[in-house]
Amino acid sequence: MAVKIIESCVNCFACEPVCPSKAIYEAKPHFLVDAKKCTECEGDFPVHQCASICPIEGAILDSLGVAFNPPGSLTGIPPEKMAEAMAELQSH
Ligand code: SF4
Ligand code: SF4
Repeated sequence: MAVKIIESCVNCFACEPVCPSKAIYEAKPHFLVDAKKCTECEGDFPVHQCASICPIEGAILDSLGVAFNPPGSLTGIPPEKMAEAMAELQSH
């Protein structure tokens, strides 16, 4: 069982030092999780440390491929409102 960092990661370095298993490493084009080392924080912390500190929605997925911080969960902006706002910005 392991979490996964995907391409929306912005390489902010926040998750790497908080991982109790040293499973997160810098790579190109973005940080990655060594699936053999990731313990999902079991026995160390009640919540996934990487996902709880990551500022980017959708950048870290659980072992089932589901985002820990889905769109809107950190900004508080519902995804459809965000899409509307982006469309509005791009139309100018
Ligand atoms: S879930 Fe825990 S052990 Fe796995 S990469 Fe994230 S911080 Fe490290
Ligand atoms: S905290 Fe999130 S955005 Fe920052 S390096 Fe880790 S996965 Fe990437």
